Amino acid sequence: MVRQPMFHGDEHSHDRDEFADPLLDSDGLDVLRPQRLEEVVGQQAVVDRLQILLNAARKRQEPLSHLLLDGPPGLGKTTFATVLPKELGVDFQITSGPALSAPKDLVPYLTNAGQGSVLFIDEIHRLPPAVEEYLYPAMEDFRLDIALGEGVNARTINMELKHFTVIGATTRSGMLTAPLRDRFINREHLEFYTIDELTEIVLRNARKLKVPITHDAAGEIACRSRGTPRNANSFLRWVRDYVDSEADGQISTELAITALKKREIDDIGLDRQDRRYLQVLITTFGGGPAGIAALGHSLNIPPDTLEDEVEPFLLRSGFIQRTPRGRMVTTAAFEHLGLQVPEDDTEPQGRLF
Ligand code: ADP
Repeated sequence: MVRQPMFHGDEHSHDRDEFADPLLDSDGLDVLRPQRLEEVVGQQAVVDRLQILLNAARKRQEPLSHLLLDGPPGLGKTTFATVLPKELGVDFQITSGPALSAPKDLVPYLTNAGQGSVLFIDEIHRLPPAVEEYLYPAMEDFRLDIALGEGVNARTINMELKHFTVIGATTRSGMLTAPLRDRFINREHLEFYTIDELTEIVLRNARKLKVPITHDAAGEIACRSRGTPRNANSFLRWVRDYVDSEADGQISTELAITALKKREIDDIGLDRQDRRYLQVLITTFGGGPAGIAALGHSLNIPPDTLEDEVEPFLLRSGFIQRTPRGRMVTTAAFEHLGLQVPEDDTEPQGRLF
C-alpha cells in the first residue's frame, strides 16, 4: 500500500560520504534502509514512543499525529519517516522544504494526501514563510485556502483535505518558526549511535550485501563511522569494493582498516574535510574564536554545510567548542592532529587551552 514516493530536487545531496551507488532502489531509496520498526537499530527510547503512537493510531483508527524529527544528517530521520507509513499500511509522499518554493508547489501534495497517509517534508526548516502559512491550516484544520494567479486570472481554492500526517525532518530545529514547531504534537530528537549499535548495523548490512565479515572488522568500521549509520553503510560498501578488488572478497579487521585509510578516514573516523576544518581553525584563525561565515569562506564550504555536517561530530568529540564569539579549537584537536599544544600565555585570549 505504500505508494511510490515522489522525489523532488536533491533531498539527499547533503550526503557527503555516499557515492552514487547502484544499490539504490529504482525509487531512489537505499536497500540497506530498515523497512520495519523492528529492523531499526538503536534510538530505543524513540522507537518505544513511536510504537505507542502507532498502536494508539491503529486502535482508534485515526491518522498518526504530526511528527517532527530532528538531528544531524544520516541518523535515520528519513528511515523513521518511511517506516511509519509502512507499519500502518498507508500511502506515503516525500518532498522537501527547498522543493516547495511557492504555495502552489504544496497543492498537489495536499490534494493527493489520502486519509491517514503520510506527507514527509525533509529539511522543513527551509520551507519559505509563504508556504508555511498554507501548511498551518492544512495541518490543523485539514483545509486548503489558497489564492492562485493574479489580476483577472486570480482564483481562490477552498478545499477540505483528508486527515493526513505531516512528518517533518530537520537538522536545525532551532530555525523552525514557533508556529510551525507548535503544529507538531510529537517531536523526537535523534542522537548519535554507539559503537555497539553501529557494529550491529554493519553486521546486518554485510549479511544483506552477502559479504563475509568478522565481528572485529565490523567494529573497526563502526568506530570510524562518526556515530552515524549513513557513514557506516557507506564505509561498509567501500570496504566491500576494496576486498573484492584487492583481496578474496572477505572483510578482515586488517583489510577494513587498510581500506578506510585509503579513503583517508583516520582512526576515529575524521575525514579530510573534518581535519581541514580543524587545521584552518588552528592555522588561519589562531585557534579561534572564528565566525562560521569566515570559516566557511576559508574552507570554501557553505557555512550551512559546516554547521549541519561537520561541526556536530567535532563538537560531540570535544575538538571544538561554540561560544558567543565564535568557534574555538580545544587541546584535544591539537593532540589528535599531532600538533604541539601552544603554551597558555602565548595564546590569544579566549582560547580553550
Ligand atoms: P537522515 O534522514 O537522518 O539523513 P537516513 O534515514 O537517510 O538519515 O539514514 C541514512 C542511512 O542510514 C539509511 O539509508 C539507513 O540505511 C541507515 N540507518 C539510519 N538509521 C538507522 C537505524 N536506526 N538502524 C539501521 N540503519 C539505519
